[in-house]
Amino acid sequence: MTSSISVDPSAQIDAAYAELIAHLKRSYTLDSVAGLLGWDEQVNLPPGAAGQRAEQHSVLADLAHAQASAPRLGELLAALEAGSGRLSPDQGAVVRQARRDYDRATKLPADFVREKAVQGSRGYHAWAKARAENDFAGYAPVLQKNLELARREAAYLGSGDAPYDAMIDNHDPGLTAAAIERLFTELKKELVPFARAIAASPVRAKADALRGFPLAEQRSFLREVTERLGFDYRRGRIDVSLHPFCSGGGDDVRMTTRFNVDEPLDSLFGSIHETGHGLYEQGLPSAHLGTALGTHAGMAVHESQSRLWENQVARSRGFWKFFEPRFRTLFPAQTAAVTSEELYLTVNSVAPTPIRVEADEITYNLHVILRFEIERRLFAGTLAVEDLPAAWNELSQELLNLSPASDREGVLQDVHWSGGAFGYFPSYALGNMIAAQLWYRVLSLRPGIEEDCARGDFTWLLGWLRENIHAQGRRLDALSLVRQVTGEELSPAPLMRYLRERYGKLYLK
Ligand code: ZN
Repeated sequence: MTSSISVDPSAQIDAAYAELIAHLKRSYTLDSVAGLLGWDEQVNLPPGAAGQRAEQHSVLADLAHAQASAPRLGELLAALEAGSGRLSPDQGAVVRQARRDYDRATKLPADFVREKAVQGSRGYHAWAKARAENDFAGYAPVLQKNLELARREAAYLGSGDAPYDAMIDNHDPGLTAAAIERLFTELKKELVPFARAIAASPVRAKADALRGFPLAEQRSFLREVTERLGFDYRRGRIDVSLHPFCSGGGDDVRMTTRFNVDEPLDSLFGSIHETGHGLYEQGLPSAHLGTALGTHAGMAVHESQSRLWENQVARSRGFWKFFEPRFRTLFPAQTAAVTSEELYLTVNSVAPTPIRVEADEITYNLHVILRFEIERRLFAGTLAVEDLPAAWNELSQELLNLSPASDREGVLQDVHWSGGAFGYFPSYALGNMIAAQLWYRVLSLRPGIEEDCARGDFTWLLGWLRENIHAQGRRLDALSLVRQVTGEELSPAPLMRYLRERYGKLYLK
């Protein structure tokens, strides 16, 4: 007998939505297991276990892909989109994000995904060898292949006529090359002459002022600082790895750092940077992990969180007013000959270098603009791979006023392109811009913020970020989020203002 009872459409939508959420949570859990294996690989894995770990990754990747591309998911999304009038705005955001992820999982053929993974690992090893041997010609075919894969990926996803936009969208949903170019062009105009003026200043931090810092005390200082900033060690931890990173999420955030007895500020600031990422992850609503409501708003916003704590907060006078006495207590002999002013100058030291990861806060943005220009030209077809070193060196001269001594110090220095990660670099400088714009918003709301820092009280700032950035998840893209929080369009002006106020005062007296 067929039922004559008509099913309430609202109840149908509710049921489909609940099933969607269960599905997304299972995907998130599978991804988080893979992430944990990745963390373990960089922190704990015995060297002989690499093969076994690769097998584990491969099985998990298959499971995750099957979950993310399940036909049932497609049916649920279709039903929810058809009844979208009955969805709340938050539910609408969840469905839009799920659709985006589902399309990625189903539009990219399995063969292509496998080919890209194999090429990524091959590319990494080819890059490491080429860099060690300063051999760009040996690396060029890898880049050529990665570009071709990137173009195919864009075509599968339906953005074949704008492949670079598709790459940027992978990391920063909603952003385009044209929008970034407008921002970078404006930034460059003021930043290039400012960086040159700073480079010409006779003021310099004493090189090697801080030497011989025992690791045990570095560890406890780092723990005290990051805990006071608000990192919750009941829901996260910090370990040592070759390259610092932050992974995981929710109640299990994993940060890493590295120590050097003669570079105590490197590990400190590296850890504060990762703490900024970690605070963001810990602040995402954990009830909504795996959905747009519990996911970060893209890499530019993520980077703004790490930069704000690392730069605006931890390089400020207020911050050091609070932490300097403790620093001196832990390291009395090492800091005896260093005045407060010298310490502050060392915290904010500048030095021109062709290497991005060693760059100071000012020139770092120029290193990013250089990479953006190169990527844009590569994807536009106006720059051939074999002409890359020459273009790189020319841009380096134009933007940084220096030429790398070799390709090893130039075009071969970064790992990103070896794995096909195009369109990622802009996030770093966009993050700096967003951080500065957020900081001036904070200052307008709480003019005494630096006194908070000087008392070691970061609760107001963290609370504000929690409410205005973290709790927002991915409801908005980076540009809309900045507009909502600061009341203004994203602009390079606050970053320039911040750099002038901090570095102009120290170096251009
Ligand atoms: Zn970062």
